Amino acid sequence: MAILQAARTVDKGRPLHIVTNNKRAAKRLTTDRKKHEDLGWSDTPETADIFRLAVAELRSRSARTTITYISKNRRGWQELRDTTTTARATARATRAARDQSALEDKTATSFDAPGAKLAAMSQRTAHRIIKAIDTASTPDRKATSTEVKKAQIAIERATGKTPAETQIWASLRTKDLSPSLRNFAWKGLHGAHKVGEYFNNMPSPWKELATCPRCDTVESMEHILFECSDPARALIWDLALDALEKKLGERPEPEIGTVWGATAASFQAENKEEGRGKARAFRILISESAFLIWKIRCERRIQHEDDENWVISNEEATSRWKATINGRIAIDRRLTNKTRHKRGALGTKTVLNTWRDMLDNEEGLQEDWLRHPGVLVGIGTRQRRQREEG
Ligand SMILES: [Zn+2]
Repeated sequence: MAILQAARTVDKGRPLHIVTNNKRAAKRLTTDRKKHEDLGWSDTPETADIFRLAVAELRSRSARTTITYISKNRRGWQELRDTTTTARATARATRAARDQSALEDKTATSFDAPGAKLAAMSQRTAHRIIKAIDTASTPDRKATSTEVKKAQIAIERATGKTPAETQIWASLRTKDLSPSLRNFAWKGLHGAHKVGEYFNNMPSPWKELATCPRCDTVESMEHILFECSDPARALIWDLALDALEKKLGERPEPEIGTVWGATAASFQAENKEEGRGKARAFRILISESAFLIWKIRCERRIQHEDDENWVISNEEATSRWKATINGRIAIDRRLTNKTRHKRGALGTKTVLNTWRDMLDNEEGLQEDWLRHPGVLVGIGTRQRRQREEG
């Protein structure tokens, strides 16, 4: 509920004027509030909690707060239109800010001490920043269709089937991937990752980010994920493809489009369930591995400022990949808990079908390893245990 959000976000000591076209909400919080409170909000059971919270939040404000209801159909009030436009821009800016990778976080912090500095900022500066964020978050259509084509071609190569464009976008809503992974692919499909060319027209020190210092070439997402000489990059793909080879019966040859379109890949199998398991394994392993490579690249370039002495050892890269995938298996296991997740719970079969053929010592595993929390299940756990024992 936007009102609650506004009350929470705006500094309590500052006046807040809420304009809403939700007549019911406005009434409940103002003229009808006492009536509802006297009844303990029991007359509106479905929304009682949220209204109770909103009232508490609004009461905790020390500055003046007003709530005004404006009919949706009212036209010609310039201020309202402006407010709507600003609200949309702010929402976009917030989204852009949330989506920022470690890289942009660093550039943003120089002018963006969260919230506090806004009052001191001149309107012109604020306008310029919003405009900059806006331009950056509005994907370029040509870039989008190029990346979508790459995804279609790559998925066709991997599976024999070309996903439709709508299918690619729809598949991005999958719950199989975390929001950051989905956002990573979404940006990729829009050609909106800020790398390489993006920095070319900027002043130093950002300009230097356009080039990969390891390889002395323009850095693109393709370079980062598939060409860079960083040994961690090749190693992580090796681990992922070893696992997928066991699962699919053949070794995939991913390219950049495979990463952007991984959620839309479907596989033939003896039965539906098995096919679904393959697709799920594919999307999880491809996405998680690519994202890990990207994270390591950001650590190297941003956090460690291209320090030549900073390298991730093969051992560390391996253990980070294993930790990522085994962490994902652990999440899957937890999500099958029906008591906790109710109808949102993941099917036991789905989980077993996803990981089957990729786990260590599967011969020794009971089919229902999911329900034995003590059983260590994972990828690469056998080797680690042997090392620990020896
Ligand atoms: Zn490179």
